[in-house]
Amino acid sequence: RNPPPTLHQPEIWSDQFNDFICKCLIKDFELRPNVQDLLQHAFIKQIAGREKTLQKQLMELIDLNQHERIHTKKGSNMKSHSQALDDVDDLAILEVLDENTITEQLQKRYTKDHIYTYVGDILIAVNPFHKMDLYTQQYSKMYIGAKRTANPPHIFAVADIAYQAMVSYNADQCIVISGESGAGKTESAHLLVQQLTVLGKANNRTLQEKILLVNSLVEAFGNACTVINDNSSRFGKYLEMKFTCGGTVVGAQISEYLLEKSRVVHQAVGERNFHIFYYIYAGLAERKKLAHYKLSDSKTPKYLQNEHIKLVPDIVGSAFYKEQFEAVEQCFKVIGFTLEELGSVYSILAAILNAGDIEFTSVASEHQTDKSNIINMAVLESAASLLCIRPDELQEALTSHCVVTRGETIVRSNTVEKATEVRDAMGKALYGRLFSWIVNRINSLLRPDNPYYLGGGSFSDLNIGILDIFGFENFKRNSFEQLCINIANEQIQFYFNQHIFAWEQDEYLNEDVDARVIEYEDNRPLLDLFLQKPMGMLALLDEESRFPQATDQTLVEKFEDNLKSKNFWRPKRVDLGFGIHHYAGKVIYNAAGFLAKNRDTLPADIVLLLRSSENDLIRKLVTHPLTKTGTTVPDNYTLYTHHPRETTNMRTQTVASYFRYSLMDLLSKMVAGQPHFVRCIKPNNDRQAHKFDREKVLIQLRYTGILETAKIRRQGYSHRILFTNFIKRYFILAFRANEEPAVNPETCAAILEKARLENWVLGKTKVFLKYYHVEHLNLMIRRNT
Ligand code: ADP
Ligand code: MG
Repeated sequence: RNPPPTLHQPEIWSDQFNDFICKCLIKDFELRPNVQDLLQHAFIKQIAGREKTLQKQLMELIDLNQHERIHTKKGSNMKSHSQALDDVDDLAILEVLDENTITEQLQKRYTKDHIYTYVGDILIAVNPFHKMDLYTQQYSKMYIGAKRTANPPHIFAVADIAYQAMVSYNADQCIVISGESGAGKTESAHLLVQQLTVLGKANNRTLQEKILLVNSLVEAFGNACTVINDNSSRFGKYLEMKFTCGGTVVGAQISEYLLEKSRVVHQAVGERNFHIFYYIYAGLAERKKLAHYKLSDSKTPKYLQNEHIKLVPDIVGSAFYKEQFEAVEQCFKVIGFTLEELGSVYSILAAILNAGDIEFTSVASEHQTDKSNIINMAVLESAASLLCIRPDELQEALTSHCVVTRGETIVRSNTVEKATEVRDAMGKALYGRLFSWIVNRINSLLRPDNPYYLGGGSFSDLNIGILDIFGFENFKRNSFEQLCINIANEQIQFYFNQHIFAWEQDEYLNEDVDARVIEYEDNRPLLDLFLQKPMGMLALLDEESRFPQATDQTLVEKFEDNLKSKNFWRPKRVDLGFGIHHYAGKVIYNAAGFLAKNRDTLPADIVLLLRSSENDLIRKLVTHPLTKTGTTVPDNYTLYTHHPRETTNMRTQTVASYFRYSLMDLLSKMVAGQPHFVRCIKPNNDRQAHKFDREKVLIQLRYTGILETAKIRRQGYSHRILFTNFIKRYFILAFRANEEPAVNPETCAAILEKARLENWVLGKTKVFLKYYHVEHLNLMIRRNT
């Protein structure tokens, strides 16, 4: 290998020695300033023939740095992380930084099953698509309180850094996991929770167990098999783990975002309904309880029919589904749900399936041309009995509706189309509200102020949030759901950019530090396009949703007339189509169904009927609307803060406005913490192990701005420490313990020079350091004490 460009081989060095030095440099980049220093020294003094001494000094330096690395490995029989000389743990230290080099590095590492790589302080995780032995207790231990460079990059290291930062600075933390569908976000979130419960040393084993089960439980209800991922999250999740000031875990809280309710009544080709439906079917069959829940053991409910699951026997016979059912029930019980609640949950799920099978036929009537009748009354009766309501009332609510005109209530018949719509709306609403109820119930059972956990009067003061939100989506046909998901991703990318680029560069300006400006793709114009009021896309959608005569066609026309942005266009030949150039690529949406999906109305007749249910849980689902109230977020995150008064009531709240609240609510939680980023990468579209599709990876690296991130992490100064804080912490490296050096740039410089560091900068009030400087200084401090 050629020596790095900054090194010139003096004539006095043998090739062999030069080779050795190059290897050292490649091996231990953190030491580069020191090694270079040493070499310079040797060079100036023309120390010919003293290679042995130099070699020894170099070895000592490297030893010093690897001390902990070796230390933690001692006695461990794990595969040692033999870091090949030609691949690096941290992309930010690459000599050549371009897309190809980065992709090549990731590929080299991936072929060796090194799925994790740092870009400075950001973790890249490439999905291995096979089971790794990286998450054992031994690994868990290895990453506790270890220096980041002491071990190979790992998701556990992120958990550790967040945890240590929370405890040391007494500050909330937030771990943001991003990546496209199937990239490994949910797995990463699990692993973080797993390691954080270890770090948080829950003194209550049950609590630890409960926290670990939360994910499995909500995923049974919120995940489904899609063409891309067999366990795709169809909702966004922000899990906050609650800790005492001392760092003991005392509880957890989840927030859910944008559950894809439409999946309950319809799934795209090759996709399935939410897991739980298959689980209960198989589980109840095993217990001979199908009849009790009015489920057939031979006929597949319409909501579960698709080309893959031919028949109920497939579901009923599945050992996997049965196991999952037992597991879910166990989760419910351990977390603290009562048996009565469980029974109600099963009844509601079975009622949804039964209701889905209600069929209508058109009958001509004297006054109206089309009116609907129910074909299969027995099915309707089953659904009604599971919902604990009267069948005749259910029939009426499905086939007719009341209109109030001039103070008079008139009953109008529903067409078959309308009746089907009402039936599906009921299924979606019941499922969505059931999901929210489960989440809320988990929260009340795991709330840290629950006296059950508060032994010793400890209070939860701190938290670490983990965001696992659906990734960017671009399918053949993209609808309202994709639009919302992609807007959420736009917002998360904006948050990332603010932290990584915008604020860092602002600080250089303020401090008069001459740092090269890194160009990055600012996606603010897109946020403006979607969220601005009154002319943003969501506001226009809401406005159009208020007009009863509006159609999806008038909606796209409204978009076209009002959205003046180069990121929006109308493609020719697609009737209800419109295109958006997202930060992650171009997406063509189809507006068919946008208005209905946004209004998401559950007819008042159905609400009233369900309120009459004799089942407590069902009544609860329709009586307490689960609306979000307005939340405010600091201005520099987005322009679109909400005024609490904007909160509308359940009847008029559209999906778009609820979505905005959710997004703001999420942001307000995220901005309260110090962020950490995990970027998941999907190496191929076939879910295959050991297959690295360079083009596919490159596209993901490009749109997530990894190249720019690597540049700013290398050129930029990720640590900006006030002179006074810097001196307080590190003066001991250059001064005697009883000295009190003046707080000024000169003192800082003296310390940094003494530590033999290079490439730092002094601003007006702060020392600007690279992240590896800080690690080196901390190591020296530890050796000093
Ligand atoms: P996402 O949440 O980003 O859509 P998932 O976390 O569900 O993706 O991951 C998709 C699949 O990839 C998982 O079901 C699993 O098979 C595999 N996978 C992801 N991360 C890992 C990992 N660290 N080790 C092994 N398999 C993984
Ligand atoms: Mg997921």
